[in-house]
Amino acid sequence: MSWKSALSAMGLWVVMSVAALAAPPHKALIVTGQNGHDWKSTTPVLKKLLEDTGLFTVDVATSPEKGKDMSGFKPKFSDYELVVSNYQGDAWPEETKKAFVEYVKNGGGVLIYHFALAAFPEWKEYNEIIGLGGWGNRKEDAGPMLRLRDGKFVPDTSDKRAGGGHGPSQEFQIVVRDPEHPITKGLPEKFMHVSDELYGWLRGPAKNLTVLASAFAPKEKGGSGEDEPLLFTITYGKGRIFQNALGHTPKELASVAFIVTYQRGAEWAATGKVTQKVPADFPTADKASTR
Ligand code: ZN
Repeated sequence: MSWKSALSAMGLWVVMSVAALAAPPHKALIVTGQNGHDWKSTTPVLKKLLEDTGLFTVDVATSPEKGKDMSGFKPKFSDYELVVSNYQGDAWPEETKKAFVEYVKNGGGVLIYHFALAAFPEWKEYNEIIGLGGWGNRKEDAGPMLRLRDGKFVPDTSDKRAGGGHGPSQEFQIVVRDPEHPITKGLPEKFMHVSDELYGWLRGPAKNLTVLASAFAPKEKGGSGEDEPLLFTITYGKGRIFQNALGHTPKELASVAFIVTYQRGAEWAATGKVTQKVPADFPTADKASTR
């Protein structure tokens, strides 16, 4: 081998090694295209935050518009380790619903973002997968609320109102309820989030559900006077599901409290582990932070 070909072989080796190092190990799909919220502005942010971890390549599946023919909407969930839902709208075709349930049963990761918890009130398996939901006429038969009693979240059927609601946007403090879970491990016990909707009165089957963190919703600010679960996990079959109820618009997605819990929750849902370090700009008990 001449020195020239040796050098070019070495150059190729370097290029290939760098490519191998740089290639994110996991594949994520964001499902969107309909939402009572502005999915067009939040989806690029959700995509970039996943890519910023260095862990994910991200595709986006965009459904037809509301009211249009959905029969061709068939994202190939099984090609991915994580499905992020930013979808709330028309029912998916039966085949797509089945494929989604199979994907989760077989160990697929799911991240339910903000108003995606209002999707599909009539779809039984979806509600089991997401654990707790809101809006869409989720009455008592949707399942109980979860209420903090003696330090534990327990099913509670005493409140008869339909699931889902919030007062005006407000800053609120998030309190970690399970400090040993990989998503919350190492986070401060209490941390502030920017002014945002504080979702409350969520209802659902709430099976195999672990509340990771909650926030107190004061009655004088339109809340329930209860600690509302905002970050929680569910297991369904072999699948791992993480719900992050924060983040009304891109403005709220700039909150480091959202960014970090979203990124860690995504990794956990995809892999069952969290390798990300808690960043230096993480909010404190009395001060929110943004990027
Ligand atoms: Zn919202």
